[in-house]
Amino acid sequence: MSRLVIVSNRVGPVRDAARAGGLAVALVDALRARGGLWYGWSGDTNNQSAGVKVEQAGALQLATADLTEDEYDDYYNGFANRCLWPLFHYRIDLTAFDRRYYEGYRRVNAKFASGLFPLLRKDDTIWVHDYHFLAFGNELRQMGAEQAIGFFLHIPFPSPEVLATLPNHDALVRGLFAYDVLGFQTSRDLERFCDFVVREAGGHVEGDHVTCFGRTIIARAFPIGIDTDGFAKMAAESEDARRQHEKAVRSLRGRAQMIGVDRLDYTKGLPERFQAFERLLDDYPDARGELVYLQIAPTSRGDVQAYREMRQELEGLSGHINGQYGEFDWTPLRYINRAFARRSLAGLYRASKIGLITPLRDGMNLVAKEYIAAQNPEDPGVLILSRFAGAIYQMPEAIAVNPYDIKEVADAIQNARYMSLEERQERFQALFDGLKRDDVAYWRDSFLATLEHEAPMHRKAERPA
Ligand code: ADP
Repeated sequence: MSRLVIVSNRVGPVRDAARAGGLAVALVDALRARGGLWYGWSGDTNNQSAGVKVEQAGALQLATADLTEDEYDDYYNGFANRCLWPLFHYRIDLTAFDRRYYEGYRRVNAKFASGLFPLLRKDDTIWVHDYHFLAFGNELRQMGAEQAIGFFLHIPFPSPEVLATLPNHDALVRGLFAYDVLGFQTSRDLERFCDFVVREAGGHVEGDHVTCFGRTIIARAFPIGIDTDGFAKMAAESEDARRQHEKAVRSLRGRAQMIGVDRLDYTKGLPERFQAFERLLDDYPDARGELVYLQIAPTSRGDVQAYREMRQELEGLSGHINGQYGEFDWTPLRYINRAFARRSLAGLYRASKIGLITPLRDGMNLVAKEYIAAQNPEDPGVLILSRFAGAIYQMPEAIAVNPYDIKEVADAIQNARYMSLEERQERFQALFDGLKRDDVAYWRDSFLATLEHEAPMHRKAERPA
């Protein structure tokens, strides 16, 4: 079996299983099994960088490089987080088109590719992750890399009209054809990619073979999952989860809890969600004093203006809701701006009768999956999920809502509050079975099988006789 090389903006955590999410654990498992290499940004900025640092972590190697401060501003904060992130989530209004950002992005993709190239072996399988490294494969090919290289996009792929607003979209899409396999979260993302290739770039599609710019590649949807059994076990059996569950139940004093857990990001629809909760309290007085909404939202990307503004807006809204509706012995909205340990989160999910996950646009949304995995099958909670989260295609038994429609979300919460045990169990079981089938190991293995077994055959067939 060939060595696996994973490339992603952030590496790990590799050793700290409690901190690592399902994705990191799944990738580390694959790397350990085959003795692989994980390569990416160290997380540090350093203007006198010492190049690539390689360290051994048990059976696998970690390779990292620093960014200079300019690179951090232009590539990471600039093109990745102020350009690609908002645009791919349909927020053209928040997209900052700046040539300097794009140049920085290209430079960093080239720099990281040239850092990896000398470490590569002839028969390595290379798997590149996410929007930070769209151009990475092309840079590697320019250096002469002939290995199988796959790419997985963890965020949505936008519609052609939206993508076309990006000044350098043609070069970015052309660069994607350096990969052998492109993976998307949902078949809708895949369709939008194919649509772009056909309508804007003059390519053609046959099954999952997409031809353009003189290359044929495989493009397919691989919806990412979680470690379903592991998460369910952690929620039900770990000491930390149990303790957190008990603490939550005690503090609720017989009231029901509704939970939302999201990075503080404008794609997550948090202001709309707060408004929907307010609407519920307004329209359904029986919810007052009976339901507590816990929103956990750790700050992220705090040096980008749009994130700071949203944080202020949410503080205003939560103060308003609690001021308007709160009683001396009932705080309707508990809004917490910090990260929780994964085990504690699992306990909090399990203590919540409703999971309210209503992003305006989301590649997949793992929190929705974790919420279901954490439930007690005897008395499960109800998931309310945005129809614009990728997860909705795999979770049709959730209550689907339009997150922009405040009244619809308020009504869905009321519906969830009174749902019968029988219906909750039926929905839960169907959702849980789906999560068990399509877990993160299945995702990883099906992507790698495509890259290692289908793509090479395909590459051979493509070569002229
Ligand atoms: P995104 O990748 O956009 O942040 P996802 O829902 O797909 O959204 O993944 C978020 C991951 O981060 C989940 O695994 C979730 O458990 C974790 N997470 C989110 N909020 C917190 C928090 N407050 N504390 C700890 N982990 C969190």
